[in-house]
Amino acid sequence: MELHLAWLYDDLLELYGDRGNVTVLRERCAKRGITLHVHQYSVGDQFDLTKMDMIFIGGGSDREQNIIYEDLLARREDFVMAIENNAVVLLICGGYQMLGQYYKDLDGKMIPGLGIFDYYTESSRDRMVGYIGIDCHIDGHNFQLVGFENHGGKTQNVATPLGSVFAGHGNNGTDGQEGVLYKNVFGTYLHGPLLPRNPELADLFIEKMMRRYEATYVPVALDDSLELGAKQQVIRELKAQI
Ligand code: GLN
Repeated sequence: MELHLAWLYDDLLELYGDRGNVTVLRERCAKRGITLHVHQYSVGDQFDLTKMDMIFIGGGSDREQNIIYEDLLARREDFVMAIENNAVVLLICGGYQMLGQYYKDLDGKMIPGLGIFDYYTESSRDRMVGYIGIDCHIDGHNFQLVGFENHGGKTQNVATPLGSVFAGHGNNGTDGQEGVLYKNVFGTYLHGPLLPRNPELADLFIEKMMRRYEATYVPVALDDSLELGAKQQVIRELKAQI
């Protein structure tokens, strides 16, 4: 079986090792006999998002967000079609911010977002930095996700958050919400990278991609004892700080 992932702006939006999300997905697919083709695209490249099983955009500084936004806006129609066709979409931090209405940087410059969601982000000098833990309920299952956040942007007006913060800041440091979840779109502030720290989420993405072709597919379980042991230690330490 072959799956296709578009990694957008891989040369610009790739903060704090977000490329690790792609590496983990490719390796965890290979262990199930699935070939995950990773297509790396950036500004000016020709590509068709509607043919992708997954789309990934990592995080970036305000400068890089300003570089890519015009190119991203030109792809809005295909992006919406991919989302409605149930492609998996993973957006980390800056990538997450760019699907909202706008991102207002520290100088007050308004960087237009794709406007696919009603949320908007405005940067602030008090950056939200540190380990973060969230409680999520996805497809009828409870997940705890851990990661690392580093953002000045405060995201407001998220209608359907990914989860609620049990440690850390989240979308804006005040409403206790984190990220966005809509259909198969997962937006989050969790760097880490996210998927090496949360292998069960990586497998959920693989399941969702495969179910586009095999309705009852469930990935064979892997030995994640090392990853999950590390994750539980982070959760214990986060909860001890509360
Ligand atoms: N530049 C954005 C902010 O500071 C996103 C940062 C990131 O992607 N880590 O909020």
